[in-house]
Amino acid sequence: MPVRTVEPLHLRLLRSLRDEGAVSRAELGDRLQMPRPRLLAELERLVGLGYVAEAGLAASRGGRRSTLVELNPQLRFAAVDLGASSIDVEVVDGRLEPIAAYTESADIRNGPKVTLQRVNELLHKARVDGAYERLHAVGIGVPGPVSFRDGVPVSPPIMPGWDRFPVRELLTREHGCPAVVDNDVNIMAIGERHGGVAHSVDDFLFVKIGTGIGCGIYLSGEVYRGTDGCAGDIGHIQLDSHGPTCSCGNVGCLEALFSGAALARDANAAARNGSSPALAERLSIRGAVTALDVAESAVEGDVACIQLIRDGGRRVGSVLAGLVSFANPSMIVIGGGLAQLGHILLAEIRSVVYRRSLPLATGNLPVVLSELGARAGVAGAAVLASDVAFGEAS
Ligand SMILES: [Zn+2]
Repeated sequence: MPVRTVEPLHLRLLRSLRDEGAVSRAELGDRLQMPRPRLLAELERLVGLGYVAEAGLAASRGGRRSTLVELNPQLRFAAVDLGASSIDVEVVDGRLEPIAAYTESADIRNGPKVTLQRVNELLHKARVDGAYERLHAVGIGVPGPVSFRDGVPVSPPIMPGWDRFPVRELLTREHGCPAVVDNDVNIMAIGERHGGVAHSVDDFLFVKIGTGIGCGIYLSGEVYRGTDGCAGDIGHIQLDSHGPTCSCGNVGCLEALFSGAALARDANAAARNGSSPALAERLSIRGAVTALDVAESAVEGDVACIQLIRDGGRRVGSVLAGLVSFANPSMIVIGGGLAQLGHILLAEIRSVVYRRSLPLATGNLPVVLSELGARAGVAGAAVLASDVAFGEAS
């Protein structure tokens, strides 16, 4: 059993106000099981630093009404989720409620300077529009391995020019506040644990199936990132030594067999070779078919499309079965763009995981779709940003 790090007092206090809202001092003391003099001293210190503010009087419980405390309403965090082909930016308040949000398409292969300049432009626009006066922290997720300690991407396969680029340093300098950089799948897992289907679940796997495939790993309530930051890079586990060539240069990786790109490839083939009438029709109208066409055609009952999704689910399931035996999670969450393949995909993943893992490990193992969907990434980046800002209040 790993030893959990003891959470410092100020961090517990600020997280409690973030997650549960305004509260009386007495209730806060009960919640944190903290002696009153110590709590009052700490609150006074955090008010002085600008993290905490008075929030009016509590409803009377008889006797003297107590004053509520809450996070300073001026606290603002920036949350950024960079995908292979998209930028999502939000500015949130201390309780992580969005104040401003922007989504646009962008190609991560344009490199760090162009991409981060666009992120900065969007954040400056949010300030001009009145979303904030100053940011207290920035959290950002990128679609590749990250050295969490150094705040830089490390040899990311689909991000040319980003290797070791000082992302954290650039954002810190630009916005005059701390910044934190993580992998896109990890921030989705963090978002889902904070405000989604894995709320307060300590051991779970978040599997993102999109352009690529990756896995966020929560063990004993902490994200497990591995020595070099590439833990959970399950898209490159080999399933077929004679399979198609992968973007990483190897053959037969999971994501070379099933991912957004692989499914589009197989769907176009099924449209052309006549095995899927529904896809053939869509191809003749639009000139190309995508994963979304497969999802829609499957719902309409197209046999070849249902089979494509089942084959993909079986492959993901066989990798997950190994992970379940290894890590014994209490939940598996499926997210990312291909989660739109929905219940056919989920049913196949479940069936393979339940069939192949140890019965003890799957006795009570929900395999469910992400609740936050496309917002999981920014939601997690906001949680990370707030944690980093709160950490500075020591
Ligand atoms: Zn690969």
